Amino acid sequence: MSYHIGVISGDGIGPEVVAEAKKVLNKVADKYGHEFEYEDILMGGCSIDATGEPLTDAAIAQAMASDAVLMGSIGGNTQTSPWYQLPADKRPEAGLLKLRKALNLFANMRPAFLYNELREACPLRDSVIGDGFDMVIMRELTGGLYFGERSTEEVDGVLMATDTLTYSEPEIRRIAIKAFEIARKRCKKVTSVDKANVLDSSRLWRGMVEEVAADYPDVSYEHMLVDNCAMQLVRNPGQFDVILTENMFGDILSDEASMVTGSLGMLASASMNDTKFGLYEPSGGSAPDIAGKGIANPIATILSAALMLRFSFDLDEEALAVEKAVQKFLEDGYRTIDIMPRDSKDAANVKQVGTKEAGDLICERI
Ligand code: NAD
Repeated sequence: MSYHIGVISGDGIGPEVVAEAKKVLNKVADKYGHEFEYEDILMGGCSIDATGEPLTDAAIAQAMASDAVLMGSIGGNTQTSPWYQLPADKRPEAGLLKLRKALNLFANMRPAFLYNELREACPLRDSVIGDGFDMVIMRELTGGLYFGERSTEEVDGVLMATDTLTYSEPEIRRIAIKAFEIARKRCKKVTSVDKANVLDSSRLWRGMVEEVAADYPDVSYEHMLVDNCAMQLVRNPGQFDVILTENMFGDILSDEASMVTGSLGMLASASMNDTKFGLYEPSGGSAPDIAGKGIANPIATILSAALMLRFSFDLDEEALAVEKAVQKFLEDGYRTIDIMPRDSKDAANVKQVGTKEAGDLICERI
């Protein structure tokens, strides 16, 4: 089969890690007889430098014409980069928000999986880790506080700022359907996270989730308050399969979940709409502190490409081959700098490799 992939390399380590993911996709194409055609799309700081805008209408059109988009990361050092002297709607991140909205990417999926080889990097005690954990956070991405009305005004000489959290029935229903569909392909359990003891939007959320759950009798579900969920993630992460939640709670909980896996450089993510289209990117940012040094971990981007194979192209066997190759790379004792054991005794048993070598070694294992 032939697929047209939009590629947003972006800024910082973005181009370095995307190059390795493309290398892996090309290996998959060779081995399984597919054709992947790539089209570069400008977004973020590099787009500001080239066009004055973080995302142009032409770039949106390119993304829309693709079967899926593979992305590195965007942005620079927020303290020193001139991009952050610009008004908020002209900064690199504004491009990503605009793209999510334009493509209606309402569902963000972030798997958080603990590799046995990286147990040492997990900040939790062995007794808490138990047999490990393998969960997915499904975060609503185009509603809630991030997109609600906001204002700052002076009332009687005092500045007042207001943000609004709004959700409609259809917005909740469609993300809940995504979560139950994904749970069906996994361990068949959804934990819907809200703050229904305080927020109206959460009470609506709960009601809609129950309606959707009725259509999935094979998937079990529970409701959990967000404060309890934050606690349970570090108390017993193995209890979760699919965590379903709104935009702001999902932003916070997904970072917490990634932290317990030990490294941001290992975590993939997918942002999807209600077609097969998706935007696939690593969970981490552009890591300006290590950009250009050839040491960034490309695994999160490579695993994002695997998600693209599975969810946008229905190439399950190929996706699994990539995931197994990553597993084998770790089993064979290779590590990038961010996942090197902290203890020098353990470090002596593994081999540190750079970005390109990691990509080559993973390709060899497909
Ligand atoms: P970051 O994720 O870029 O970096 C945090 C730390 O993790 C750094 O020490 C970095 O070196 C390390 N790290 C991240 N990815 C790594 C990898 N693949 N391999 C090895 N180490 C890795 O977060 P930050 O420093 O807060 O943000 C930097 C820039 O990235 C900012 O401009 C921010 O807005 C942007 N950002 C972009 C996205 C995105 O493109 N979706 C997401 C988050 C942050």
